[in-house]
Amino acid sequence: MSTEYCVRIDRTACEGIFACLVRDDRFEEAPDGLVTIDGPRDADEAGKMSISFNDDRLEDARLAARACPVDAIDVAVIDDA
Ligand code: SF4
Repeated sequence: MSTEYCVRIDRTACEGIFACLVRDDRFEEAPDGLVTIDGPRDADEAGKMSISFNDDRLEDARLAARACPVDAIDVAVIDDA
């Protein structure tokens, strides 16, 4: 089932531990050694990224968020219709 959701990454909190990458391969290491994720950016200011998705990978994103030891990832459902 396709769900619209937003992945927010607080790169100021990220410590480059990369527990998220093994749960969801959309998360990647950026050249600066912190996490990044590809996708249309809603906002990218003060180290905070917000990317919207509409697919069936909500649970992967949630697993990545739960795996982050510093709570740098937040996943919010926008619309699950
Ligand atoms: S698990 Fe958290 S701290 Fe580690 S790279 Fe991912 S976002 Fe950064």
